[in-house]
Amino acid sequence: MTRYGQRRGRSEASTSRQGPPAPGAVGMDVLGSKSVGILPRVGYSAQKRLESVGIRTLKDLLQHFPRRYIDRSRIAPIARLRYGEEATVVATVARIETKRPKPNLSLLVVTVRDGTGEARCVWFNQEFRAKDFEIGQEVAFSGRVDKFRWTVQIQNPSYDVISSGAGPSLEVGRIVPVYPASGRARITSGYLRRLVWDALRMFPELDDPLPRKMLEELGLVDRTTAYRNIHFPENFQQVERARRRLVVDEVFMLQLALRLQRNEAERDRIGIAHPRFPPLVRRFLEHLPFELTEDQRKALDEICDDMASQRPMHRLLQGEVGSGKTVVAAAAMCTAVAGGRQAAFMAPTEVLAGQHYIGLLPYLEQEGVRVALLTSSTPAAERKKLLERVAKGDIDVVIGTHALFQEGVEFADLGLVVVDEQHRFGVHQRIRLKEKAKGRTSPDVLVMTATPIPRTAALTFYGDLDVSTIESLPRGRKPVKTEVVDPANEAAAWEAVRSEVAGGHQAYVVCPVIEESEKLEAAAAEAEFRRLRDGPLAGLRLGLLHGRMSARNREETMRSFRRGDIDVLVSTTIVEVGVDVPNATVMVVLSADRFGISQLHQLRGRVGRGSSPGRCYLLASSTEAASSERLKALERSSSGIELAEVDLVMRGEGAVFGTRQTGRTDLKLTRLVEDASLVARCREWSLRLVERDPLLVDHPELRAEIESTFGDELQVASAS
Ligand code: ADP
Ligand code: MG
Repeated sequence: MTRYGQRRGRSEASTSRQGPPAPGAVGMDVLGSKSVGILPRVGYSAQKRLESVGIRTLKDLLQHFPRRYIDRSRIAPIARLRYGEEATVVATVARIETKRPKPNLSLLVVTVRDGTGEARCVWFNQEFRAKDFEIGQEVAFSGRVDKFRWTVQIQNPSYDVISSGAGPSLEVGRIVPVYPASGRARITSGYLRRLVWDALRMFPELDDPLPRKMLEELGLVDRTTAYRNIHFPENFQQVERARRRLVVDEVFMLQLALRLQRNEAERDRIGIAHPRFPPLVRRFLEHLPFELTEDQRKALDEICDDMASQRPMHRLLQGEVGSGKTVVAAAAMCTAVAGGRQAAFMAPTEVLAGQHYIGLLPYLEQEGVRVALLTSSTPAAERKKLLERVAKGDIDVVIGTHALFQEGVEFADLGLVVVDEQHRFGVHQRIRLKEKAKGRTSPDVLVMTATPIPRTAALTFYGDLDVSTIESLPRGRKPVKTEVVDPANEAAAWEAVRSEVAGGHQAYVVCPVIEESEKLEAAAAEAEFRRLRDGPLAGLRLGLLHGRMSARNREETMRSFRRGDIDVLVSTTIVEVGVDVPNATVMVVLSADRFGISQLHQLRGRVGRGSSPGRCYLLASSTEAASSERLKALERSSSGIELAEVDLVMRGEGAVFGTRQTGRTDLKLTRLVEDASLVARCREWSLRLVERDPLLVDHPELRAEIESTFGDELQVASAS
């Protein structure tokens, strides 16, 4: 992989880059290869401790952004200090005294004068600081102004000796950055501040890979300015401008990387021109017991256009649970089959794969499509036989999990891959999804997600995909009536469950997630199961489902629930992934405040899928939680997209991407709501740039940076 790609055939249309790099300027990729150990204040132990908080390279360090700032930029004359204010004074040391008013209390009092008045700086039990001061020195002190008798006093001020010539002060007389620190790793904010300062001194000029025209058009400062000002701003306007620029770095690089990846997948590859609405698909649609909604129709049209084209399809189909994505995907699979090819359907879990199989089988078989289910519980002998048939082309549609397809199933002629991601944001997973096709043909790819994704997020994380959206629910489906329940009124929820069961319906009880411990989670679900069985739901037929049960037991329980042999299914969030039991009409979520809003919205989509309306009770773990804005939002709104945005505003980006988004593509500065229009413009730029210069031959710095940031995940082609 060549880094600074040989420039071949520079295209006329190419966007001009920033002028020649300043002498000595370094690229982020270079900083990404330099250990923090090269800094003067970083010894072996500090290096290890920095590593433990994720700061390994100078790039990591510079991208360890301040959490907040303290404004100490205004220097006040002592006479004008006001009590209670944070202030900085610059004054001359007049007296240094240590006192011992009590055996275990020592005072260090440094009296200073600035020509307008006198002030006392006081430290308790920090006598050692006395050696920092000398009479006649000029020192800057910052802290909260207090009163001691008739004098102005500042307790425990930060200070910097000005006359010692130690260089510019980082703590006083300026806006001071405060860094996320780590007590455990013994990394203080002050230490980080010093390191960042040193790093910026060592590398004062950073290469800017962004096209100059883009900087101008978006009104962005250059990268050097951005890093200097996010860390050591002179005013808050500089902070905001720096942040804006760095947001572009985050978002644009990711978008560009995804786009390059897509180009790469398409390079030297041809897609398949599938037939457009062949008779098989028309029959499939006619035989459905319902009409497609307008949104479904539109999505299917878009998919069919893509499939009919010679370019490989990379399309995202988004829509809430129950909005009818699967049916649309099935029609797409019929399209592939009608052209004599095969389709693969990947579900995120075995339970879901099984369910899709059960759901789709009748519709597909009715049209003569040969369908097989392949999971890791398929017996070996059967599996072998199935694989042979798939390889020979005797099976048209294979339904299974991701894992299965990674194990190298051979297809005779794969024409379409449907990936049901549900709520998994799988940038990485998707990137790893290598084509399973023969030779140079690429199968079309359709990714389905039920995560309502705010538009900005979609533009960023699905920058490589075209998007179809199903917004409306099938006709007749009513939003799930949702009620937040105070713990004191819990009985009302159980009453509702009993009454639904008495009416012949079924119910879910969902137990909260216990972070990082499936074991604890399972134990909690078991305890809850016993409590309900022996208490509030005594006499009903209860079933239990959690992640620690064997696949077989889980299957068995699901089957009984589907058959109606279980009235109430007590489970962990397993049910989230696409369980479809139309007879279930009520759901009770325990400790609902421990779930994300979007997740709760997903969960409640499990009820009311049949002809009767659904109801959902969100049991709060405290009265306070019951009145929280987050839970109330669910009572109010039934729009997944709206709720995802509420989540985003209230809990930040992490809420949307969860822990599934791994390290390097984390957005550190981007606020998807506020930065929406900036993100959209970055997207335009990324599209434009890659269209003109698909391998970024004319933008070697951009390429180098993308390769160094995403190298392992993105197989970006070599420019040579
Ligand atoms: P999703 O995959 O988006 O969760 P499904 O495709 O599984 O949704 O559809 C949910 C349920 O709604 C299924 O039982 C399906 O048969 C039914 N359904 C889908 N489209 C329609 C429609 N247009 N009208 C009525 N019911 C529909
Ligand atoms: Mg095609």
